[in-house]
Amino acid sequence: MVMRAAQIHEDLTLGVDSVDTPSPGRGEVLVRIHAAGVCGTDLHILDGMIKPDPYPMTVGHEAAGVIEAIGDGVRLTVGTRVAVYNKLFCGACAQCLVGRHNLCDREPGQLGFNRDGGDADYVVVPERNLVAVPDGVDLATAAVLTCAGMTAVHATKLSGLRIGDTAVVNGIGGVGILMVQAARRAGGRVIAVADTAEKMALAKAHGAAVGVVLTAADGFESLPDQVRELSGGRGADVFFELVGTSASMTAGVRCLAKGGRFVSTGYTDQMLTIHPIEFILSEISLVSTVAATLPDLEDALRLAAEGAMVVPIAGRYPLEGISDALTALRQRAVLGRQVLELVGSA
Ligand SMILES: [Zn+2]
Ligand SMILES: [Zn+2]
Repeated sequence: MVMRAAQIHEDLTLGVDSVDTPSPGRGEVLVRIHAAGVCGTDLHILDGMIKPDPYPMTVGHEAAGVIEAIGDGVRLTVGTRVAVYNKLFCGACAQCLVGRHNLCDREPGQLGFNRDGGDADYVVVPERNLVAVPDGVDLATAAVLTCAGMTAVHATKLSGLRIGDTAVVNGIGGVGILMVQAARRAGGRVIAVADTAEKMALAKAHGAAVGVVLTAADGFESLPDQVRELSGGRGADVFFELVGTSASMTAGVRCLAKGGRFVSTGYTDQMLTIHPIEFILSEISLVSTVAATLPDLEDALRLAAEGAMVVPIAGRYPLEGISDALTALRQRAVLGRQVLELVGSA
């Protein structure tokens, strides 16, 4: 049996190849992928900043589908709709035992980063990496929640955001639009910072109270003053940073109120260079988050089932359209999250 798989090769070309369909071993499940999210992190793989080992590797770390077959010892049943938690974890180390699956000490790998991922007709994963998708949540939404949604939930939890706080969400991309909703749900008043008026309108439609549009690349210098103006002179309690340039990160720290938290989420190759006194005198904290835990994914799916987390789908592509989707993402011309739809497009 062969299947289609979007694979990155060592020369950094991306192609939809015909490969052998994997079969599930003991404790593993074969999932037929219905939908897969297209993420900014995929661009880092395409650019060689994140290197699979070995090449070629099937890309994609945001997948949802239906169980097609199960290996020995699996309790989940064929036909169940599932979302795939993309970080493999051992389940037995000190980090796993306290629920920090994203920080597993044994680092068994991550789908679409260094293991074959979900931009394919099928993927094999350990049963413990699957979360049942609640009724009423479509599989395209579930796919996006396995990265952007759970990341937003995790970052919001670690930020310590509380009811009545002011939160800035800097960057209204696929994660940002869900961060707006997670922060709002946690009780925050959200100031959205976007690079176009369209993204700002989208953020407001999903719960942002006010917004700032920064179009020029150097516009971040004015952001701290604007945030103070929009928060009664106080500044933000939490700044969710999703842009990742040196200018945006520095501005983020300077937007904070005393005791505020700068939340660093996502990958960047740029430096945050700031004098420590800027943290010290206001008792500002730097909170780092990477992906999310399995319970965060369960929470994101539950929030979606309650209607509290809505994924704006910016575009739907067949698997063969993956390069078009990535090109649109690179041009920052995407409102919400793009998805690949695999079933029906073969
Ligand atoms: Zn992602
Ligand atoms: Zn572990």
